[in-house]
Amino acid sequence: MIKPIPGGSLWLPSQETTQVCHAIVQEPAFFRFLTQIDEELAAATRLQGCRSCGGGLHVANYPRKPRGCPVAAREEYSRRLSFTCGRCDLRTTSVSVRFAGRRVYLAVVLMLVSAPGSASARALRDRLRIAAVTLKRWRRWWCEIFPLTRFWQSVGERFMPPVTIGCLPQSLLERFEASTMTDRLVQALRFIAPLSTRVVVR
Ligand SMILES: [Zn+2]
Repeated sequence: MIKPIPGGSLWLPSQETTQVCHAIVQEPAFFRFLTQIDEELAAATRLQGCRSCGGGLHVANYPRKPRGCPVAAREEYSRRLSFTCGRCDLRTTSVSVRFAGRRVYLAVVLMLVSAPGSASARALRDRLRIAAVTLKRWRRWWCEIFPLTRFWQSVGERFMPPVTIGCLPQSLLERFEASTMTDRLVQALRFIAPLSTRVVVR
């Protein structure tokens, strides 16, 4: 599914190391790939038209200044793809594998850095200079708020054995079968994308 990243990185989950996480968040090709997915998701949303009146949707992107993306990807990450209806002006924002609601950090950072007790997560957190208080909020979101979302309530039971809530998001990430860490991340980001238009905690 994912295009191979130039440089031939093949990361097996069992070999996940600090370097792997660091490499992923510094890899413009990975970020570009996520942009492509978002563009596809946005195109599909646009095709459906306005959910209220069925009118045509016009591009009305939100400006964003996300943290946690490589300099080379900053320009393309300065927009959250969104639309407004040409007839009734209602806004429609497509789901995203890049942005987690209004959080300033990208969804991939939220996924990689929130892993409890992981050395690689800790190192990445230090590198991105994420405040301890921010991380605490994210952990709380994963373990206390995420499980209560309508989204998780409707899909969580599909995982057998159940996903260990106290070890989120790692316990979720581990459930996606892929030969590389990037594939696994993309699958997980696609999976939680329905939450991307709702997550409000920073
Ligand atoms: Zn409309």
